[in-house]
Amino acid sequence: MITADLPTIYLMITVIGLTMTLVVAVTSRVDRDSGLAPIALGIGLCTLGYFLYGMRPVLTGLLFNALSNLALSGSISCFIYGILRFQRRQATGWLIYCPPLLMALITASLPEQVALRVGLLSLLFTLQSAYLLKVVLDRRHVTVGIGQYYLVVSFGLSFLIFLTRLLVALFGPAETLQVNRAGPLATFSLLMPVVSLTLITLGFIIMGKERAEERNRRLAMQDELTGLANRRHVLDVLAQQLAAVSRANLPLSLLMLDVDHFKQINDRYGHPAGDEALRRVADCLRERVRAQDIAGRVGGEEFLVVLPQTSLEGALKLAEALRESLARLAVTSPDGRAFTLTISIGVSTLEDMPDGAGKSLIAAADAALYLAKQRGRNRVEYLAPGSADTDA
Ligand code: GH3
Ligand code: MG
Ligand code: MG
Repeated sequence: MITADLPTIYLMITVIGLTMTLVVAVTSRVDRDSGLAPIALGIGLCTLGYFLYGMRPVLTGLLFNALSNLALSGSISCFIYGILRFQRRQATGWLIYCPPLLMALITASLPEQVALRVGLLSLLFTLQSAYLLKVVLDRRHVTVGIGQYYLVVSFGLSFLIFLTRLLVALFGPAETLQVNRAGPLATFSLLMPVVSLTLITLGFIIMGKERAEERNRRLAMQDELTGLANRRHVLDVLAQQLAAVSRANLPLSLLMLDVDHFKQINDRYGHPAGDEALRRVADCLRERVRAQDIAGRVGGEEFLVVLPQTSLEGALKLAEALRESLARLAVTSPDGRAFTLTISIGVSTLEDMPDGAGKSLIAAADAALYLAKQRGRNRVEYLAPGSADTDA
């Protein structure tokens, strides 16, 4: 069995720990939204804790013992707090503050009863690391990316070590657990922080980057005012859907919506009221369309709804229902005045797919919308793609 030279490992942990603390601290200073400050503190405390364990032959006394356990347990608390903050969850105060204080207290008040002290400390460390692992695992489906799994591995390893130490404390010879006693368990226990600190640093930095990327991706696809898909995204989805339905020989319909006399709404109630009207129209679209449909804002007061696998009949029904419910919508301007609006809708449907279908479909929906405006607004019109009117 390999048994490492303990002072060397302690020195390694200290050097690696200090490096990681510095890396995370600098990253947290540069990117203030990263939420990395408690993590830097956690890594720093962890390093301090192990440094003090390593110095036990020199720095003897209750104070140093209590301080090392306080630091190590405090570092777990920092990680718990940091993850909860990252997940935008409330941190329960006593679950954060109590374990480190309790451990310091136990260390200080049971100087002679080695077995009891070691047993209690191992139990608390096991519970605390189990909670840490649970906090990460709880939200694994909500948190994006792979960074979180670095943490799962790291915290899972810590939990296993603490559990092993607890079992040894309960059933094995207690002296095995003394921090400066060389042996397989000590070697294993001390290699763990080297792996752990590396994984925690990488994990948190990657998690932050993954979340920022995800946010940018979302923003690049979204219309800022209404939260609907923006023009580029809705046209991308249309192209994808055209390819998908043409393979399966299914119909696809489009609705092109435009608010009637929107300029007058802006002129009469002000631009912010116009914005509010657009948001309310968007809410209404979001409520009405099915999960496989997509609605986007393609211009100032123009919206496009892509309806895959939808026949002309279905599209006309939805268009009419939208027109009616939007006509009933009461919008309130920021200064408290209520007003209503109407929309015109152009519908087009593709039943079989020649090449370049997308363009002629949009052109047809556009021309149908123009027709609806010409014929008096607040109405739905249909034109087949490629029909004579679309070229007008
Ligand atoms: P029509 O019935 O023919 O569609 O008439 P309209 O007044 O709706 O059409 P027009 O194209 O003449 O005017 C559109 C107006 O939409 C003009 C522009 O100021 C306004 N607009 C465009 N984008 C926004 C926006 O983001 N917010 C607000 N409040 N107004 C916008
Ligand atoms: Mg308009
Ligand atoms: Mg318009």
